[in-house]
Amino acid sequence: MILPPRFACDVMLGSMAKWLRMLGIDTFYDNQAADADLKRLCLEEKRILLTKDRALHDSMPVGTSRLVGAVHLRAQLEEIVRVFRLDRFDLPPRCSACNGELETISKEQAKDRVPPYVFLTQERFQRCAQCRKLYWPGTHLKRIAERIVKIRKACE
Ligand SMILES: [Zn+2]
Repeated sequence: MILPPRFACDVMLGSMAKWLRMLGIDTFYDNQAADADLKRLCLEEKRILLTKDRALHDSMPVGTSRLVGAVHLRAQLEEIVRVFRLDRFDLPPRCSACNGELETISKEQAKDRVPPYVFLTQERFQRCAQCRKLYWPGTHLKRIAERIVKIRKACE
């Protein structure tokens, strides 16, 4: 079995980090991270650095970073999905806010943490194991799923 790659995004690629996480790809992002920290993290955790910074890219060992060429988010995502063949993997989404893993919780557990309308109309809830952010399919998970399908199609 081929394991999906793990990434770290530089400070300019925060939106991409969110989307990669929603695709289920383990992606580090910290908008305060200094270049030296990113480099060390990538080497220690065997993460591929995604960067818009040519000097930073050139300072990484060969094969440990990717200079992202595309300008717009959608094209950037398509580039990374294509280059790393991310369409091979069908992973459960991770928390877009913190990269944590999502766990399914009961409707009762979600009760006091979501708007009443959401509680009444939704049956499936997930919670980030790390930051406790709640997700439910009726909101953005559905839109995300649709967009991911489009991205995957565009890469075929
Ligand atoms: Zn989280």
